[in-house]
Amino acid sequence: MMKKGVTILGATGSIGTSALAVIDSLSEHFFAVGLTAHSNSTLLKELIGRFRPRFAALADEDEARALQAQCPKETTVFGGVEGISAVAAAPEAQVVVSAIVGAAGLLPILAAIKKGKTVALANKEPLVMAGSVITALAKEHRAALLPVDSEHSAIFQCLCGNKNQKIHKIMLTASGGPFYNKDINLSDITPEQALRHPTWRMGAKISVDSATLMNKGLEVIEAHWLFGVDVEDIEVVIHPRSVVHSLVEFVDGSIMAQLSQNDMRLPIQYALTYPERLPSPVKRLKLTEISPLEFFPPSLDHFPCLRLAYEAGKIGGTMPAVLNAANEVAVEEFLQRRLNFLDIPAVIEQVMEDHVPVDNPTLDDILNADSWARHTARTSQRRCT
Ligand code: NDP
Ligand code: MG
Repeated sequence: MMKKGVTILGATGSIGTSALAVIDSLSEHFFAVGLTAHSNSTLLKELIGRFRPRFAALADEDEARALQAQCPKETTVFGGVEGISAVAAAPEAQVVVSAIVGAAGLLPILAAIKKGKTVALANKEPLVMAGSVITALAKEHRAALLPVDSEHSAIFQCLCGNKNQKIHKIMLTASGGPFYNKDINLSDITPEQALRHPTWRMGAKISVDSATLMNKGLEVIEAHWLFGVDVEDIEVVIHPRSVVHSLVEFVDGSIMAQLSQNDMRLPIQYALTYPERLPSPVKRLKLTEISPLEFFPPSLDHFPCLRLAYEAGKIGGTMPAVLNAANEVAVEEFLQRRLNFLDIPAVIEQVMEDHVPVDNPTLDDILNADSWARHTARTSQRRCT
């Protein structure tokens, strides 16, 4: 395998640092070209020192200027959203790992796609809000979109060699988050409780999304765009052990699944080495140690965010962008203790009810819907509290 240049957007986050661990363990195959972050210049500086990338960027322009002054000359530091997009488009990288959290990742992903790069996609929110735009642009520029999200990596792996076979349905597994099957009053939940995920260690936003099951709802829409399967044919199954990462049922009733330890280094590595496989330091799975494997149906009454995501996915157009934007606002407000846990779906539902979706949206339609939904969510939040 030829040595590949890799840029990591969101290098200081949970996925970003795991991606760097993969590059580190496979340094004869990969090298870092660009590393970006929002404002964590301390960690970014440390990563620049270790990985010596040609480019870096911080969304925060002041931090970016300060960082340039402290960096080795070989690393050029850019600032702002344009700076991050410039790093995403840098010609030295063949693969861009997209690990920014939220809608902020959309424009850098588009910049990478326009240069025909392989995008290893962890950042699911842009695909939820602008799936039609991203997939059309990727086709036009022959840019491969490879899933990093563990469920989607599992489905992708189940479909390798089966691409032209008829799919009956996709089964997305969900751990259920920290509150599944717990006798707990959901309105009293604190950010600390919501951030304590039972099986995965992740950033704050996705941890809250996992607790509300919005993460699984976003993943249903993500799977729709990645695999061209109708939202109605994507089923969510609660699997608390997080060992079976997802399954595909073909028309003949045969089901394929992918199993492994729940360690994000595995799907990240597969997206980087695809179509090859290389050894990994991740502990191997021993079937005799993981029994019994259990699966349960999710309760849409207990977890209305999942119901709302299905609704947005079925309506399509700009509605998924509105769902995503309202959720980003509500989660942030919950983390800031200005909103209670159960108000998260209430705010999203209110914003969705107020939205008149645009069919076949352009990028501008999507960006307008996104900012309208953020504004409306803040207003309806005041009505909730
Ligand atoms: P983290 O919060 O841990 O990291 C987010 C990264 O994005 C950080 O590097 C952060 O920089 C950067 N960032 C945040 N806001 C902006 C912005 N406005 N502009 C530019 N950069 C920004 O998140 P995770 O790693 O957990 O998640 C990243 C994405 O991957 C999410 O979309 C998530 O849904 C998805 N994902 C995560 C999984 C996981 O296990 N963590 C699993 C599957 C998918 P800074 O440090 O400076 O704030
Ligand atoms: Mg996932």
